[in-house]
Amino acid sequence: MSASIAIVGRPNVGKSTLFNRLVGRKLAIVDDRPGVTRDRREGDARLGHLSFKVIDTAGLEVAEDASLAGRMRAQTEAAIALCDLVLFMIDARAGLTPADEHFAEVARRSGKPVIVVANKTESRTGFQGAYEGFSLGLGDPVPISAEHGEGMADLEEAIAAIL
Ligand code: GDP
Ligand code: MG
Repeated sequence: MSASIAIVGRPNVGKSTLFNRLVGRKLAIVDDRPGVTRDRREGDARLGHLSFKVIDTAGLEVAEDASLAGRMRAQTEAAIALCDLVLFMIDARAGLTPADEHFAEVARRSGKPVIVVANKTESRTGFQGAYEGFSLGLGDPVPISAEHGEGMADLEEAIAAIL
């Protein structure tokens, strides 16, 4: 049975973009409106020499619609409970937000192994922003660009060290 990896983080950080890259198909909707991925999506992922099951999630958001926020959060918590490893994604360009810190705590409490993935690092600003991820206390952030396919070898190495 292959290991399963959940991609979690607040809306708009690029989770679905990474999911699509890993499964090699556009199974997940990429959208710059926060919270567009509302259903959990699973696919078979390949990353270098690794293959695993990957779960895309809606994003942990404190939305205006309380019931929607609750469903999205429950969905993310379910994905974390099911998986063997959490990829906790932050947007290195935007920097850390209170939502990132709040939900990093959810990931931490799960007791699952977590890799912090700092996305959108194709620019210099993004790369500097990646260092903010250290302060989550979840280990060294892995800088990537899901859109441009950068940092994939480092991500593979970080995953291989845990699975
Ligand atoms: P999600 O809500 O976390 O699933 O985020 P999406 O995958 O839907 O992406 C949100 C927005 O970020 C979209 O406009 C993407 O094109 C953009 N995006 C995703 N990855 C990158 C990246 O590596 N660099 C940049 N600059 N933008 C990205
Ligand atoms: Mg999404």
